[in-house]
Amino acid sequence: MKFCQKQILIPSILKISEGELNNTGKYLKESLFNNAAIFFSEGIEEIFGKKLYDSLNSSGINIVHKSVISDIDIENVIHTAFEIPKSTDVLIGIGGGKALDYSKYCAHILALPFVSIPTSTSNDGFCSPNSSLLVQGKRKSVNAKIPYGVIVDIEAVKTSPESCIYSGIGDLISKITAGHDWKIAAEITGERFNDFAYIIANNTVSDILHYKKFSVISSEFLYHLVNSLLMNGISMEIAGFSRPASGSEHLISHAYDQIALKPSMHGIQVGIATYICSYLQGNQFETVKDFLKSTGFFDFAAKNPLCKRDFVEAIRIAPSVKEDFYTILSDKKNIEKALEFVENDEICRQVLI
Ligand SMILES: [Zn+2]
Repeated sequence: MKFCQKQILIPSILKISEGELNNTGKYLKESLFNNAAIFFSEGIEEIFGKKLYDSLNSSGINIVHKSVISDIDIENVIHTAFEIPKSTDVLIGIGGGKALDYSKYCAHILALPFVSIPTSTSNDGFCSPNSSLLVQGKRKSVNAKIPYGVIVDIEAVKTSPESCIYSGIGDLISKITAGHDWKIAAEITGERFNDFAYIIANNTVSDILHYKKFSVISSEFLYHLVNSLLMNGISMEIAGFSRPASGSEHLISHAYDQIALKPSMHGIQVGIATYICSYLQGNQFETVKDFLKSTGFFDFAAKNPLCKRDFVEAIRIAPSVKEDFYTILSDKKNIEKALEFVENDEICRQVLI
């Protein structure tokens, strides 16, 4: 039998601090890039475009293509990939999830390097090896490649709406339940398990727990939030699939996306589902509860509640969202237990109306 060590990709440019947007051109030039195609999320060019252009211009980087991304249909991404000038040697995505998902997949099709510049941190997608796109009208996670570069300007992140920060918090804390689901799946179904990926994902949560008393808009908190979300992307690359970052809590959120008339942000749904699933798992329930309380996540969710009826239905159908994906919800008794919890728990009554 032949054993071989797994090789993984990691970002070659990795910069996280205040004012980094001004250094983008310098970092790209150091990597010998000359011609960039830029993809903005809606409204982002107006806020950060000048800084980015000045930085690229001062380093002699040409902007050969520019577009604003409003939809994430995979057909449009493929179409765009053939419109990009041949001289392009790097793609830049700047803004929230849509522009990053779009340009990451476009770069994957063209086999070109992709530089991710998130201006908000609502989930771990800015450094993940996949893109969330619309495939035949349905939101799907499709394989792409981990970004060549990740540049996060904490000053920019500070200006993002608080909903984005709380969404990032919810997506991050979900690694507690996702990791546990993966472990039980490995035990019960023999699913492939990667200790290294598990440890990385687990450590990202342990790190952020130290900062639970910090203001969520402080530089310290945001720096560690970004770092942790980023390392989740790396853990998925190591595992070769999304298991370290996505378990029963993500199934509930995906189901809610399908049912709800007006779904909320990914990480808000996932955060609430994590609270419920950690109770079912009997796994770090108090830690999850305390963190979501201390950071103000529950207060935010109570002011912007989800629809209880749809959420209950989402719990019921969650196991059918993904085939052959064992989680705590695969045991029917736990669905009933979750519904009972939602009915009687004080926090659930506030965040699910
Ligand atoms: Zn997520």
